[in-house]
Amino acid sequence: MTIAIYPGSFDPITNGHLYIATRAAKIFEKLTIGVFETPNKPLLFTTEERVELIRQSITGLPNIEVEAFGGLTVNFAKKVKAQAMVRGLRMSADFEREFDMAMMTKKLYPELEFVCLMSKIEYQFLSSSLLKEAASLGGDIDDLVPKHVAEALTKKFQAKA
Ligand code: ADP
Repeated sequence: MTIAIYPGSFDPITNGHLYIATRAAKIFEKLTIGVFETPNKPLLFTTEERVELIRQSITGLPNIEVEAFGGLTVNFAKKVKAQAMVRGLRMSADFEREFDMAMMTKKLYPELEFVCLMSKIEYQFLSSSLLKEAASLGGDIDDLVPKHVAEALTKKFQAKA
């Protein structure tokens, strides 16, 4: 069986992430979205909330699963027996970072293939951090995330106000 992981912070999941996951799920027989528990950046949602928001986004996609992980991503790949790791590429910011990550991944686990899929034009500018900024200021983000994610963002920012 061809298995891939799609790791990231997903704080929260956006339509850009979902676009990549949906395409990867057509290439691989099984895709496990890996929610990194402790990324090196401030988080709005807890690990459990990030996992749950993804779970609700993938109900119609039977070969996609979601799981939280800590530590090295390559160890998570080994645990779920993945042959490949999927990442998304936006036009400007991602290439250098993803290239470095691919090199490090190759060094740590040479058998794991690193597969980058290009984002589509509508989502080129979309990142979870910009999304949170826009949502916190009351911007209309309805086209950029599933409905339940928009609601979760509204609730979070209302609770913080
Ligand atoms: P990380 O903290 O690992 O970068 P993210 O949740 O920000 O986690 O992103 C996970 C993956 O999804 C990364 O490969 C990132 O480049 C990709 N990604 C994020 N936003 C988009 C988008 N709008 N279109 C395509 N890929 C994206």
